[in-house]
Amino acid sequence: MYESLALYINGEFIGGDGRKTEDVVNPATQEALGQLPHATQADLDHALESAQRAFESWKRSSPMDRSAILRKVAELARANAKEIGRNMTLDQGKPLAESVGEIVSCSEHLDWAAEECRRLYGRVIPPRNPDARQIVVREPVGVCAAFTPWNFPYNQAIRKVAAAIASGCTIVLKGPEDSPSAIMAIARMFHEAGLPKGCLNIVWGKPAEVSDYLIRSPIVRKVSFTGSVPVGKQLAALAGQYMKRGTWELGGHSPVMVFDDADIDRAATMLAKFKVRNAGQVCVSPTRFYVQKGAYDKFLAKFTDVLKGIKVGDGLQAGTDMGPLAHERRVPAIERFVEDSVKRGGKVVLGGDAPKGKGFFFNPTVITDLPDDAMLMTEEPFGPIAPVVPFTDMEEVLKRANSLPFGLSSYVFTNSLQTATKVSNGIEAGMVNINHFGSALAETPFGGVKDSGIGSEGGTEMFDGYLVTKFITHI
Ligand code: NAD
Repeated sequence: MYESLALYINGEFIGGDGRKTEDVVNPATQEALGQLPHATQADLDHALESAQRAFESWKRSSPMDRSAILRKVAELARANAKEIGRNMTLDQGKPLAESVGEIVSCSEHLDWAAEECRRLYGRVIPPRNPDARQIVVREPVGVCAAFTPWNFPYNQAIRKVAAAIASGCTIVLKGPEDSPSAIMAIARMFHEAGLPKGCLNIVWGKPAEVSDYLIRSPIVRKVSFTGSVPVGKQLAALAGQYMKRGTWELGGHSPVMVFDDADIDRAATMLAKFKVRNAGQVCVSPTRFYVQKGAYDKFLAKFTDVLKGIKVGDGLQAGTDMGPLAHERRVPAIERFVEDSVKRGGKVVLGGDAPKGKGFFFNPTVITDLPDDAMLMTEEPFGPIAPVVPFTDMEEVLKRANSLPFGLSSYVFTNSLQTATKVSNGIEAGMVNINHFGSALAETPFGGVKDSGIGSEGGTEMFDGYLVTKFITHI
């Protein structure tokens, strides 16, 4: 049993009915799971018009009503987490516990949006003229178009949908065609929770064609995209042509800085386990490991040892630590990083290849002795592959860490408060995790700087992209 796949427009689930379809494939077995219908141009127009019509009343809805619907979806998701998670493991590949954890933790995002939408305050500005009033109000921006990726199919979509719906916006969402089941579950739960028709619309198709059509539409007032830097820049340029607001959560190449004075065993163990989460297909995955010279050998030995013990397999099988990559094209993509590393003098100290047999698996891989300009040190790998290189002092490692155009997450391990403070001040990143992994919570902002994007999801900042400011003065 797998999700039945459909478009969701104006409160109706719309099946194939002669539309183009694409196969959804289980990345662990390469078996087809179902067929996903693509939206026609008429479907896209229908979704846009439905979202526009719905916006006229939704923008005037009480925050209490929005809050109740979001809370209801949070409850439904908790109750159905196992089933939604199982389907997500089938089409995305991550281990079942990670899938179920993603669904359950996202109910916190829904609850957070439900709480905070009652506090979208404006302000009163003291007037120069005592008879005047000066008021600032925040209003929903309008119809949003959102594009979400395949690595966290549920999380990435729920953050955007919750922010839009909580703010009084309506939304047309194009989810990941590779891993669509979680998006279908979101549509079903909002439907069941009583979200008025047209507030949430789900479409599928060729990503470039759908995004081009939706972003150019005069109905759309805001674009939200999570995905790679090149695609994000392309969509941001298009949105810019039409002066549309945007939230851009793009890629990173998160540096890890492990200092001599850190608890090295703890750091190596935590980082190895974090590295293989979702097979490394995480925008905030630790991807460049800089280890201070005095701790280098000890770190590398422990890190490699923990990764050796990672059980790679079908995410539905008990005991699996790491599933396959999400689709076929990711295997050659990771192989290219290994090939370039070897050409550049890198030593493969663990893995470096795909296991034989069915499925898009890749073994956890550790590479050392790389120059800073090797592909693996400069391009986001988005897979279970870790370059480990030594550094001498803080000034040097900060310079190397900041040398790339990305600035999403960063990780620091040290027992010195002074080092922690200096590195957190000096690093160019949207998120700094020191001695633990603490980002991506509902109540904390999540986002990058530099090429890693614009805007935040999570925290009170999550609403900024979905609201416009209006100044009202009267006398
Ligand atoms: P890709 O760049 O083709 O696609 C990345 C995502 O963007 C996919 O979900 C895809 O459907 C979507 N996309 C691509 N072109 C689009 C367009 N013109 N309009 C709208 N959406 C579009 O590459 P891929 O092989 O699917 O993924 C690999 C790369 O994507 C990774 O190396 C990583 O950098 C990036 N990625 C980042 C995130 C993230 O969370 N920031 C998530 C998934 C993928």
